[in-house]
Amino acid sequence: MSSGMRSLLSELSKRIGKEKIFTEPEELYSYGVDAYTEFKQPPAAVIRAGGEEDVRAVLELADREKVPVVPRGSGTSLSGGSVPAVPGAIVLDLTPMNKVEVNIDDGYVMAEAGATVLEVDKACRSHGFFFPPDPASSRIATIGGSLAENAGGLRGAKFGVMKNWVLAMEVILPGGKKLRIGEPVYKWRWGPDLMSLFIGSEGTLGVITRAWLKIYPLPEKVVRVLGVFDRIEDAGKAISQIRRRGYVPMILELLDRETIEIVNESLGYNIEVAEGMVMADVDGPRESVWRIAREVENVIKDCGGRTRASDDPEEMEQLYLARQGAYAAVTRAYPGVLLEDITVPLSKLMEALRELDRMRKEYGLRMPVFGHAGDGNLHPNICFDPRDEEQLRKAKELFVKTGQLAIKLGGAISGEHGIGLAKKELFLEEIKAVRGEGYVEVVKMIKQLLDPNGIMNPGKIFL
Ligand SMILES: Cc1cc2nc3c(=O)[nH]c(=O)nc-3n(C[C@H](O)[C@H](O)[C@H](O)COP(=O)(O)OP(=O)(O)OC[C@H]3O[C@@H](n4cnc5c(N)ncnc54)[C@H](O)[C@@H]3O)c2cc1C
Repeated sequence: MSSGMRSLLSELSKRIGKEKIFTEPEELYSYGVDAYTEFKQPPAAVIRAGGEEDVRAVLELADREKVPVVPRGSGTSLSGGSVPAVPGAIVLDLTPMNKVEVNIDDGYVMAEAGATVLEVDKACRSHGFFFPPDPASSRIATIGGSLAENAGGLRGAKFGVMKNWVLAMEVILPGGKKLRIGEPVYKWRWGPDLMSLFIGSEGTLGVITRAWLKIYPLPEKVVRVLGVFDRIEDAGKAISQIRRRGYVPMILELLDRETIEIVNESLGYNIEVAEGMVMADVDGPRESVWRIAREVENVIKDCGGRTRASDDPEEMEQLYLARQGAYAAVTRAYPGVLLEDITVPLSKLMEALRELDRMRKEYGLRMPVFGHAGDGNLHPNICFDPRDEEQLRKAKELFVKTGQLAIKLGGAISGEHGIGLAKKELFLEEIKAVRGEGYVEVVKMIKQLLDPNGIMNPGKIFL
């Protein structure tokens, strides 16, 4: 440990208490990886922040000593975002800051950064409301991490991503200054919009400590429509047609045959195996929801699918959990998985699925594809044996090729998992192809202004 770090930790322990500081290798190990598992770099110290004052103290001293700080929620990042990119970093664990307060009269929930998305959702449900964004990791993913990644989820087809639900936020900047952005009211207007700077910035500009989030009334009734297809591209067609014809199901998910097989094998489900499956949750008033569900079924049939619909809560929960567990099922089945997160225009879903199928055959690797296809977001999971060098090489090449496919189709290399360490090169390729060189310049200027010593999560994105 460097002498700068030693003096920082000694001063910090006087200010926040030594019980919040961890430096033993066995305590640091798990903070050196995240759910992406490709990257490993244990930090020099972990600080478990008990409150805003702790965060301020860490960012003040770290900035003074120019020590890198990596904010961390639950480490479920799927892009290496919460793994330090450089040695000698402090990981700032926000999970102890987990207060949740629902304000029904004013229509919001206040959550500290370390509260999980599910805790926030559950707190609202007891009042007849819910919190719509639901990353499949919602049981453990934190509000801070989900804001920093601008996470989406299964209900994204109708409700969008985290940024659509934020009324106000508090952020601590490098140096320890506090910034409050917005107010917990449904309309406020002053610019420039600093909120958008921090949402999706992957911990590279400051630490989000709390947020005031909009809530939404629970739907009166939900009917789940399942579409089963003999050709994967028809499943893609059905999804784009459902949207094209003006239906906005709350959930609009896609699973391909390999995913269904792996979910059945790994998690013990008994889902009908087909080339493609579409799961559409139609919500609405009791008297009209079945009519709309039937119309969605008709769209699916027009696209060559067979359908089934149910409003049985138990059956619906089982399928939701099966889809939610798809990534875990794949990682259980394969020792190596490179997870893609591309988004394509809805009209290009068919082409994307056809092309992905061709690519998996060309490379001879298993590549289950599932995703929040209702918003054009697909997750090809490139499976390989890491002990086999040829497979590893092919998997890495295929990872780049799938990203390039998204760019070619007018989409994005990441819909929700972020750039982190995993997609730095691909992101620069995307910028070069579509965003223009001004993009890098402006983002670097913002970084320089907010974080002149470059302490916030250095080495991520292109910062
Ligand atoms: C099984 C599984 C399913 C998933 N499904 C989805 C999905 O459906 N949709 C989706 O969008 N993502 C999904 N993810 C990815 C991941 O769960 C999300 O990105 C999640 O929002 C990250 O939350 P976290 O608390 O784990 O953050 P972490 O992984 O700890 O951190 C993520 C990033 O945010 C930064 N950060 C963390 N907290 C703060 C803070 N308070 N202030 C500033 N920066 C911070 C970190 O430095 C890092 O760059 C999934 C992951 C897994 C493992």
